[in-house]
Amino acid sequence: MKITFLGTSHGITEKDRFTSSTLLTVGNKNYLIDAGAPIMKLLQEEDVPFNTLSDVFITHSHADHYLGLVEFVNQMESFKQFEGVKVKIHGPELFPYEAMRTFLFGGGDLHSFKLGGNRHETNDSTQRISFENYFEGEIFDDGNIKVTAYKTKHFADSHSLLVEAEGKRILFTGDLRHDLIDFPKEAVKNGVDLLIMEGAHARLASEPILNVLRSVDTKRMLINHIYYGMNPDGDIEKAKLALEDCYPIDAAYDGLSVEI
Ligand SMILES: [Zn+2]
Repeated sequence: MKITFLGTSHGITEKDRFTSSTLLTVGNKNYLIDAGAPIMKLLQEEDVPFNTLSDVFITHSHADHYLGLVEFVNQMESFKQFEGVKVKIHGPELFPYEAMRTFLFGGGDLHSFKLGGNRHETNDSTQRISFENYFEGEIFDDGNIKVTAYKTKHFADSHSLLVEAEGKRILFTGDLRHDLIDFPKEAVKNGVDLLIMEGAHARLASEPILNVLRSVDTKRMLINHIYYGMNPDGDIEKAKLALEDCYPIDAAYDGLSVEI
């Protein structure tokens, strides 16, 4: 499977980094974990045909993890050329999907009429984009990938997501609490092949955080969602050295692709 980082910044878009979004390619299907980046542009840059995009998983309801969907949903639903596209968005309990559709398509009859019928109403079966809430536990299995959600303490509806595919396991931490008290024990107990760790809330080079990271059973760690004000390059280097006996660590950047 291939993991492509579309956006690796923290809450702020920077000149060379977009906010959180990661593309997962397994077989001939594509999935997104978070969608903060301008995904209409970036999916085309990565030559991803829209009809191969299957499901989008949002870790929590902070806008830097989903704003790319505003443009995506609008264009997918509004233009004939996207006929045949079917994408399901999986969002946690506070995800403002209804509000987003009202913002895009309006809520009144007159607006629906102008837009040509009920295609813009939520979860109509003719829609190209549908939405489903998820809670804790196994949330998805299409025979290609399996996704399990673990609640974290970053926000009221925040989650880490474990993706299992092709015999490999990847943990996307999503956003965590600053002290990592909510780091999913699953990656400690049963191990993962790749840890995609957020770098915006915990000081990675501090001893208590290094201790949590030492306990993780992984073959590799990539740092994503990096706030360099919190974790400057020098601290990432320190964490790398401190954990070199455990596993290799690299900072992810927009456009980075890894195969596992
Ligand atoms: Zn957040």
